This record gives sequence, C-alpha cells and structure tokens, in this order.
Amino acid sequence: MIDRYDWILFDADDTLFHFDGAIGLDALFQRFDAVFTAADFEQFQALNKPLWERYAQGLVSAEEVQIRRFEPLAQRFGVTAAQLNRDFIDAMADLCEPLPGALNLVHALSQRVQLGIITNGFTELQDRRMRRVGFNLHFELLVISEQVGVAKPHLDIFEHAFARMNNPSRERILMVGDNLQTDVLGGRNAGIDTCWLNHHGKQAPVHLQPTFEVSSLPQLQQLLMGAHAYQ
Ligand SMILES: [Mg+2]
Repeated sequence: MIDRYDWILFDADDTLFHFDGAIGLDALFQRFDAVFTAADFEQFQALNKPLWERYAQGLVSAEEVQIRRFEPLAQRFGVTAAQLNRDFIDAMADLCEPLPGALNLVHALSQRVQLGIITNGFTELQDRRMRRVGFNLHFELLVISEQVGVAKPHLDIFEHAFARMNNPSRERILMVGDNLQTDVLGGRNAGIDTCWLNHHGKQAPVHLQPTFEVSSLPQLQQLLMGAHAYQ
C-alpha cells in the first residue's frame, strides 16, 4: 500500500498530537489562582467552537479566533485577551503529547515517503510542538493556515502545499486527518486520497466518504505498511 504514495500529508491536532484544551485552560487558571471547573470549560467551548468553525469557513481571521475566545476570561482576570491567548499557547506547547503510535508511525513512514502537515492551528504552537517531539526532523513540509491566509477545507491551502511539494501527481498523495469537514472534504476536493482517523466510531455521511478509514495510528501503520510494521 505504501508504494502507492510519494507524499503523506497529516492534520496536526487530534491526528498526530493529542489536543485537550481543558488541560491548557486548567494551567492558565492556576496562574491566576483560580479553580477551573467543568462550567468554565463549557463556557469557553461555547465561544471557541463556533469561532473555529467560522475560521474554517473563512468568515473570521486566525487573530480574531485567538482574541475573541478569551474576551470573557480577560475581563474576569483583568488582563488582555491577547495575553491569555499567549499564555494558553505556552501551556499547550509545554503539555503537548503525540497520540499513541504517532512517533512509531512517523519514524517508519519517513523512511519510505515524504511527509507533510497541513494544519488550521496557530503558528506559534505548531513550531514549538514539532521541535519538542522531534517531528521537525521527519517532516519536509509544514503548512499553517494562519500563514497561508486560508484554512482547510479551502482548495487554496492544498494547492499551496502541492506547489511547495513541486506538484507531485495527485494520485500519489494521501491526506490523513480526524476531521471530515476540513481534512476529508478538503482532500477530496483537492483530488487526493484521504484517510479518516475516526477515533470515536462515528459514521461518515455519504457525501463525505474517505478513501480509507482507521480508528488509530497503529491501524494506519498496519494499513500502509502491512503486518511487518510490528516486526
Ligand atoms: Mg484535527
């Protein structure tokens, strides 16, 4: 299977890296000697999630997402939203963990194909996380929506990536990600194969069928490299 591809592109958050905003927020609250509760997390997500969806639709900028999601907390703690966002990204960078199987997978794949990342996450966190787990040594391409100016699933961010890859044949590119709307739809519209990392056993709607579907990164490794992956 791996011989079909010259490039494998990955999403970052919840595809290669565990991303649990609650852990970062908890660390943030501790800096202000406040107790972080489930209600605080709900309130944050009620603001944060729609902002991310609007960002993927191109309706708000990366900067607006980063600032607006922290405005209520900024009032509460008497600091600026920009400061809270910086502190949050600091905490997330320090606390980041690769998903189970990610290191093995990346090491094994990087000997056979070229690897890239296309992420809607923010620049500062991406660079620091990549270095922290040593992925900067294995990935030839890191495309960050905040820098390109459009987010997945927009075709332009995929075209931007392909140009930086010297326009390989699209049949020889695979996009792997956990999000049907951004990763699978985006990859499909860009004319490449897609693999949905379906952590939670969900059902993909008919119009969003990926080329492949796996429930974990070790399963992806087995799919791509066969039983030998574990020998
Ligand atoms: Mg993701």
